[in-house]
This record gives sequence, structure tokens and C-alpha cells, in this order.
Amino acid sequence: MYYDLHTHTVCSDGTLTPEALVSCAVEAGVEVLALTDHDTVEGLGAARAAATQAGINLVAGVEISAIWEGMTVHIVGLDIDDKNDVLLGNLARLQDIRRERIQDIAVLLARQGIDGALAVLAHAGSVGRTHVADWLVIHGHARSRTVAFKRFLTRGAPAYVGGRWPDMAEAVAWIRAAGGCSVLAHPTRYRLSGGRLRQLIAAFAESAGGALEVVSAGLDAGEIGRLAELALRYDLQGSVGSDFHGPVPWRTHPGGLVDLPVGCVPVWQRCSRMQRLVVS
Ligand code: AMP
Ligand code: MN
Ligand code: MN
Ligand code: MN
Repeated sequence: MYYDLHTHTVCSDGTLTPEALVSCAVEAGVEVLALTDHDTVEGLGAARAAATQAGINLVAGVEISAIWEGMTVHIVGLDIDDKNDVLLGNLARLQDIRRERIQDIAVLLARQGIDGALAVLAHAGSVGRTHVADWLVIHGHARSRTVAFKRFLTRGAPAYVGGRWPDMAEAVAWIRAAGGCSVLAHPTRYRLSGGRLRQLIAAFAESAGGALEVVSAGLDAGEIGRLAELALRYDLQGSVGSDFHGPVPWRTHPGGLVDLPVGCVPVWQRCSRMQRLVVS
């Protein structure tokens, strides 16, 4: 496996620094790595420097939180110009939205008798529910991150706050403005019926979205095959990404992903700067 086009660092809710992520990816045999932190490009400079030193290709990326028909979806932007004004201005706004959302979550937690969650605002990077979940665990309000999400932070739970994210089409437009390819991330994780998933993918394609994340960690061959068919049907390319957040508590690792099914056009074939380095 040479490509891993979806990973996180401490600049959002991952546990590794950009440098450590690059080392980890190199160890796993990844040759083309995209760093795609939530709503920030902050880690790209350090990741790029580390990748150059290690002799692997670093693709500048971001994972933008967005809304489609009232639900949150994630749009990965690949091979973006991370100095683009349109993109940077809008990501700055999303950072404000994220911080305000933590305040709303803290108010809801206080109503549950849990005070002090505002402390997570000390996180220097893109702050989100993962940081609140970890804070809840550290302070003895949940046994694990998963339990913290389930009990307090997922949709329907008492401290759930949906983000005021942009519309999916807007997120795609920002990525295009920055010269990147947009990818509908982890399509099976939205827990949609087959029909609803097709509607989401059709809407993404209509918004000029470019690719579908066909291969991601934890999918079986059947699921990957179905996603590849959907990509083909809606004329989308296929992407490959682990969504690695760190060695613990996640079990996914960078790389280690299967190849895209035959017939699925890889996203890097349309973006020449994403071509695999030929290591001699
Ligand atoms: P946010 O962008 O603040 O809404 O947080 C979303 C992030 O929380 C995702 O990218 C995951 O890293 C993490 N996450 C979402 N749901 C869960 C869950 N049930 N258990 C653990 N982590 C989760
Ligand atoms: Mn995350
Ligand atoms: Mn995501
Ligand atoms: Mn992700």
C-alpha cells in the first residue's frame, strides 16, 4: 500500500504531532500521505518538512465539516493550495464556530451536573467533541471515549450540539477555489440506507464533488465493491484513506489498506501532484 489520503494530528483530534505522523506512515510503508485535519491546515508546514526529509510525498489536505440535508458530512480536500485566501478565511470562521460550539456543549454538560468542560478550549488546534470526550474520561464521567460519545456527545445525547457547518456544496467550492480535489469521506459511516446514500452521493456529484472514499479502514470487500460501483455510477474517482487518528485508542493504522477495485479511477490519476513517488 502506497497511498493514505486521510489522516489526523494534534492539530485537530489526532494524538501524534505532524512529525510523528510522518514517521509512523513511513514505518507503515506509506509513500504518499495526505494530512487532512478537521477544518485546519495548521499542521501542513511541519508535515511537509518532515515528509521531505523522510523522502515521501506529502499531499496538502483538509477535512471540512459540512451539512447535507440537516446531517453532518465530512468533505476531504486533497492537493489544496493551503495559502488560498478563500479557503483560509472560511477555515478561520470554522475555528470560531468550533470554539463557540464547545461553549454550548459546556453549558449542556453543566445542566447534567458536569462543570469545567470549558477547559478543553486550551487545546491549541482545531477543537471538537473528541477533546470533550477525553476530558469526560479523565474526570471520571465516562469509562472510555466511546462511552463518553454515546452517553453525552452523539446526536440525541444530552450534550450534543450540531455544528453550524457550511453546506456541502460550499465546502466543495472552497476546495475548488484552492485548486484541490474534493472527496466524500467515509460514506458508510453516516449510517444511511442504500437509497439515502445514493442521494447523498448524487448531491455531492452535482455540487461538482470529485471523488468517493472507496477504501477506508474497517470496510470489507463487499462494502468496498459497492462503493466502487457507486463511484463509477456517479462518475466519481476513488480515494483511499485510513482516517488514522493515532496509535491509541484507535485501531486503524496509516497504510495497510487494500487497493482500489479494478475499474475505479484513482483520485491521484486526475491530480498529477498526487502521483506516487518512484522510489529508486
Ligand atoms: P466533531 O468534528 O467535533 O464533531 O468531532 C468528530 C470526531 O469525533 C470524528 O472525526 C471522530 O474522530 C470522533 N468521533 C465521532 N464519533 C465518535 C464515537 N462514537 N466514538 C469515538 N470518536 C468519535
Ligand atoms: Mn476526528
Ligand atoms: Mn470524518
Ligand atoms: Mn477524518
